[in-house]
Amino acid sequence: VMASVTHLQKEKLRLQEELLELQGKLAAQENNELSLSLQLQGQVETLKAKLLEQAQEISRLRSELGGTDVEKHRDLLAAENERLRQEMKACEGELRELRRQQQAPCRDCPHLQENARLQEQLSQLQREAEETRAKLVELDLEVQQKTNRLAEVELRLKDSLAERAEEEERLSRRLRDSQETIASLKSQPQQIKYIIKTVEVESAKAKQALCETQSRNQYLQEQVGMQKQVLKEMEQQLQNSQKTEAQLRAQIMMYEAELERAHGQMLEEMQAMEEEKNHAIEEAFSRAQVEMKAVHENLAGVRTNLLTLQPALRTLTHDYNSLKRQVRDFPLLLQETLRSARAEISQAIEEVHSTNRELLRKYRRELQLRKKCHNELVRLKGNIRVFGRVRPITKEDGEGPEAANAVTFDAEDDAVLHLLHKGKQVSFELDKVFPPQASQEEVFQEVQALVTSCIDGYNVCIFAYGQTGAGKTYTMEGTAANPGINQRALQLLFSEVRSKAADWDYTITVSAAEIYNEALRDLLGKEPQEKLEIKLCPDGSGQLYVPGLTEFRVQSVEDINKVFEFGHIKRVTECTNLNEHSSRSHALLIVTVRGLDRSTGLRTTGKLNLVDLAGSERVGRSGAEGSRLREAQHINKSLSALGDVIYALRSRQGHVPFRNSKLTYLLQDSLSGDSKTLMMVQVSPAEKNTSETLCSLKFAERVRSVELGPVSRKAELGSWPSQEHLEVLKTLLGDSSGSAAPPGRGHASPSPGQLSSRSASIRRKLQTSG
Ligand code: ADP
Ligand code: MG
Repeated sequence: VMASVTHLQKEKLRLQEELLELQGKLAAQENNELSLSLQLQGQVETLKAKLLEQAQEISRLRSELGGTDVEKHRDLLAAENERLRQEMKACEGELRELRRQQQAPCRDCPHLQENARLQEQLSQLQREAEETRAKLVELDLEVQQKTNRLAEVELRLKDSLAERAEEEERLSRRLRDSQETIASLKSQPQQIKYIIKTVEVESAKAKQALCETQSRNQYLQEQVGMQKQVLKEMEQQLQNSQKTEAQLRAQIMMYEAELERAHGQMLEEMQAMEEEKNHAIEEAFSRAQVEMKAVHENLAGVRTNLLTLQPALRTLTHDYNSLKRQVRDFPLLLQETLRSARAEISQAIEEVHSTNRELLRKYRRELQLRKKCHNELVRLKGNIRVFGRVRPITKEDGEGPEAANAVTFDAEDDAVLHLLHKGKQVSFELDKVFPPQASQEEVFQEVQALVTSCIDGYNVCIFAYGQTGAGKTYTMEGTAANPGINQRALQLLFSEVRSKAADWDYTITVSAAEIYNEALRDLLGKEPQEKLEIKLCPDGSGQLYVPGLTEFRVQSVEDINKVFEFGHIKRVTECTNLNEHSSRSHALLIVTVRGLDRSTGLRTTGKLNLVDLAGSERVGRSGAEGSRLREAQHINKSLSALGDVIYALRSRQGHVPFRNSKLTYLLQDSLSGDSKTLMMVQVSPAEKNTSETLCSLKFAERVRSVELGPVSRKAELGSWPSQEHLEVLKTLLGDSSGSAAPPGRGHASPSPGQLSSRSASIRRKLQTSG
């Protein structure tokens, strides 16, 4: 027992120690629990404070972002939106109104483009506003969602806070129980062991509960953290949405401003357009007024015109009616008038006819008179004229004293020529003398009056006389560059004929002949060797003609050239030595001009004989024989016969020896009567030719001397006083006494004494009358 007592004691000791230890431990645990409860209380306190803080925060948040605020904001936005919508609608209405107003008058307006642009801008702005509106609705939705979530979180937070309060309540209750237990244990040591054991058991439980509480606390804290996190996120989101809202608001404001601006611009433009429209309308109105005024004036003018025209119309109608009447009567009147007119016309025609007849008669008489006057003038000047032409010294004359010039002229008198022959000067007086320097033109000027008289029906003869080489051919034919009388005469005839073509029809024919050894040959005929005969015309007119002599009708200078060429060719082919031959034969160009006066029917015929005579040199005297002698004899015979004829004509002899040579016989009708003759005596001025020159000039003087003598001059003036001639003179002089005069175209002339005194008086009167 002792052992057991000891043991129990020991045991009691150990238990006591253990109790002490437990008490210590308990005290420590109490301390611990106290500190823990304090700590927990502190924690609860802080949690409470935090909870409060959070509740405050939530309430603050709610007040700040609470459902009501968001709603308010949303409502505000919606109201704003509604206002904007209404404004837009009003704008659209205005726009429509404006469009309606402007559409019709301003179709071509230049502002149409601007308007379209503005409308485009407006529609874009509307689109943007629509988008903004959609975004706003989205944001509203988001805010709603967030508000819902916030409400949920708050609910959960409330739950967790309630749970926590419950837990705390339970813990404090257990703490209190534990303290009571510890106090009872202290008061009841016996029970302590048990209580300790219970405590030991319960402390483990308490420990576990504490642990649980702690984990719970931790969980709650985590929950709070999470909630905080969520809260933070929401805050962030809220901030974001606020920012977006501000942005949107700014954008809306911008859009509004832009809309305002566009609206203002549109209004301005509309106003400008309106003004323009008004201006245009005003202008058009004023223009229309002006036009209207003009139209009114026109109308008034037309009215007055109409008023003035009415009487005119009345008179016109009246006139028309009277005209109508006249027209009706016109055929009768016309017939009447025609009858009287016809009678008048026939009377007038009759009168004109008789006047014409009278005029024609007068004209014929005048023509005759003119011819007579002309004749008289020519007769006074001399029917036969003798010119001298001195050729220049040529190379052919050689050099030295033989080629010296032996001819001189009188500066005062162009009809005088001096020849120095064998030391003695012999002077000759002709009708005119051409010095060596005289041109073809000058020579022709002196003969052209003769040529034109051929057109009036006169016969003309122009002879070139002189020794071979004295210039006969040069004067008559000339050279191609400087043509002589032949070509110039024909040219003149053509131009004269052309100038008279209105009244006269002229034909000009040409014949060319040659007289060699008293044989007449046709230079234009087919058989030039044939000898032609000169015969009397069988009609008894006493005219001569040459049967078979070719006549070419010429119409131009070209024709004449052809004729000359043809004649030359004939002459060349027919003889062996042309120069020799031509100097031994006479060459004749016979131009016949036949005219018909169309008004009177008067016919004229004139002949122009252009004769290049054979050389006048005295061959026979130098003892030539045979054919040369015969030639010389023939030439001498024909030339002296020509001289005799001319002399007889000039001295008005009763008998003119035409028949002594072929030449004079052929030219009979051209030398006698009213014919005009010109002898061109060609001389060489060379010293060696002086004796021939002397002969030629003596011949010329012999031909001419008849005229120079006073008796023959009288005879000349008193000769050929035909009946017509005397009549002319009578009319010219107003003398009635000269009626008794013998007629005569022939060569029978009255005795010179019969008319000499009258001629003298005529001459005096002519001289005084100029
Ligand atoms: P004819 O016919 O008298 O024998 P031409 O007429 O043949 O003489 O003349 C002889 C030469 O003298 C020719 O060479 C001619 O050209 C020349 N002759 C004649 N007269 C003149 C003149 N007036 N002027 C210039 N040369 C002339
Ligand atoms: Mg000659």
